[in-house]
Amino acid sequence: MQPKYKRVLLKLSGESLAGNETHGIDFETVLRICRPIKECVDMGVQIAIVVGGGNFWRGRSSGQMDRTRADHMGMLATTINALGVADALEQLGLTVRVQTAISMQQIAEPYIRNRAVRHLEKGRVVVFGCGTGNPFFSTDTAASLRAAEIDADIILKATMVDGVYDSDPKKNPNAVKYDTLSFMDVLNQNLQVMDSTAATMCKDNNIPILVFSIDQPENIKKAICGEPIGTIVKEEEQ
Ligand code: UDP
Repeated sequence: MQPKYKRVLLKLSGESLAGNETHGIDFETVLRICRPIKECVDMGVQIAIVVGGGNFWRGRSSGQMDRTRADHMGMLATTINALGVADALEQLGLTVRVQTAISMQQIAEPYIRNRAVRHLEKGRVVVFGCGTGNPFFSTDTAASLRAAEIDADIILKATMVDGVYDSDPKKNPNAVKYDTLSFMDVLNQNLQVMDSTAATMCKDNNIPILVFSIDQPENIKKAICGEPIGTIVKEEEQ
């Protein structure tokens, strides 16, 4: 397999790091996810990662808490995951830098775009923590923002389902999976690929998103090598 993309932004949901548990990090699962990442870096692909935090905390599900404070907690959760992913990647022999959108300099580098790009050029993996650094945003939006900033070829959104369906495949056995969608389809049909802020950001900056299942971590390599998996969301060809 040969890589199709030179620089990718991989979005890992918090849930994907929990394995069979509902909460927390299952380190064996993280290692399984990181092995194909290592293979792709060894093939010369530049990989930046945005991690979610839903395995620990989601601001919007925090009930009566003040939303801004709850989102601060969510951003801290993404940083816990970023450190876990970085540790697994390092154990596999990669050089890794964690950069956080909110400064915590004893733990990670602050996010500096040029520095992140330099790391990638040197073959280091960069893991972005704290999302965008702002409440009321999601890590999907952080993925689209960072992808635009570092000029990534594509966002690889690793999820718990194997693509985008016309209805929830867990509830509707006749749900149909799309191979390709436009951003307008996603926005108009309110498809649950990513939130509308993230989708708009990708649309405006013409960054395609490939949604695929992380159930088999090998899919990361397949996605990077352009094999037909998941659902790709991109601008309609003129
Ligand atoms: N979050 C935030 N700003 C951001 C990104 C994330 O406030 O730019 C907070 C928010 O509370 C969110 C939580 O971090 O619920 C975890 O992120 P997300 O829900 O996107 O994680 P995922 O669902 O991908 O695991």
